[in-house]
Amino acid sequence: MAEENYGTELTFDAADEYRPEPPPVPEIPAWKDGSIRIGIHTSIAGDIAGALDIAHGLGANALQIFSSSPRMWGHGSSRIAETDAARFCVRRKELQLGPLVVHGNYLINLASPNPVLRTRSIQAFHQEIVRALALGTDYLVIHPGSALGASVESSVAAVAFGIKQASRGLKFGDLRILLENTAGQGSSLGSRFEELRAILAACPDLPLGVCVDTAHLFAAGWSIHTEEGLQVALGDIDRTVGLDRVAVIHVNDSKTPLGSRVDRHEHIGKGLIGLKAFGRILNHPLLAKCAFILETPIDKPGDDKRNVAALWRLTGRVVRATGPGMKPRPHKGSKVRASKAGVRAKKRSRGK
Ligand SMILES: [Zn+2]
Ligand SMILES: [Zn+2]
Repeated sequence: MAEENYGTELTFDAADEYRPEPPPVPEIPAWKDGSIRIGIHTSIAGDIAGALDIAHGLGANALQIFSSSPRMWGHGSSRIAETDAARFCVRRKELQLGPLVVHGNYLINLASPNPVLRTRSIQAFHQEIVRALALGTDYLVIHPGSALGASVESSVAAVAFGIKQASRGLKFGDLRILLENTAGQGSSLGSRFEELRAILAACPDLPLGVCVDTAHLFAAGWSIHTEEGLQVALGDIDRTVGLDRVAVIHVNDSKTPLGSRVDRHEHIGKGLIGLKAFGRILNHPLLAKCAFILETPIDKPGDDKRNVAALWRLTGRVVRATGPGMKPRPHKGSKVRASKAGVRAKKRSRGK
């Protein structure tokens, strides 16, 4: 249809003009109250919001989850339904859990020299960030990847490139990506903090930090079971990536010996790092701002609850678990209840 008023000046009601709302005063989440945060990796099997109740029931005030199956590439849309994400955020606020840590998929290898796998890894990592944002995640933890024969320099460059590509077009808000140190198994990057520093330095515009895994540190050769060894490790971390960039400590005892470069987690106090060493780690003033997250195995029902309680005891606090993990132990002979507890324990997958 022909317009008749070409050339005339149009006037609009000033009330229609877009005026941006004043930015809301940021609400400080309850978990950032400066209190010690102890969490555990918890399964999302069945219902993603259920992970929150499990962690809370175990006596944790923080948690780590996978946001999808950790050993499968996403099929089609691996997004989280808006209603599920909303329910998750509401429940998390009610339980005042935080920080929320999401551990990335184990198949992602941003360092892969194989272009197909690297592209797939970048796509999968992009989806990891999208899901982390949907859930209001504080920290998304990833392993730097494996060089698989390529040089450390080119692998570090590939990881930095991959993180930047995967982050394109996304607004991070409060989300930070944490690179986890590794045990140095095979050709995995990240057992030396210089490698993590190189990746951080190559991505100056992205919110990156570091997650330190105690079992990986020990397996990579830092004698953190002794007081002096812990001081050396903290000094090395501070000189390279900077302790101020370490936001999460994965608190795992180690089944494998010092310097073995083999990554096997053990219950707190039952491995070669030992209870005393964890007392020093949890109460160390240089780590006071870190969240402590368990990734310990569940060999017997209740192991998760016992590991959370062990950490609280080391901090001098007694926090009673209230959830399923705290139900009285089944009496001998009560096979049905015992086997149900076993199934529940097996369902809980664990991060590394
Ligand atoms: Zn990990
Ligand atoms: Zn870990």
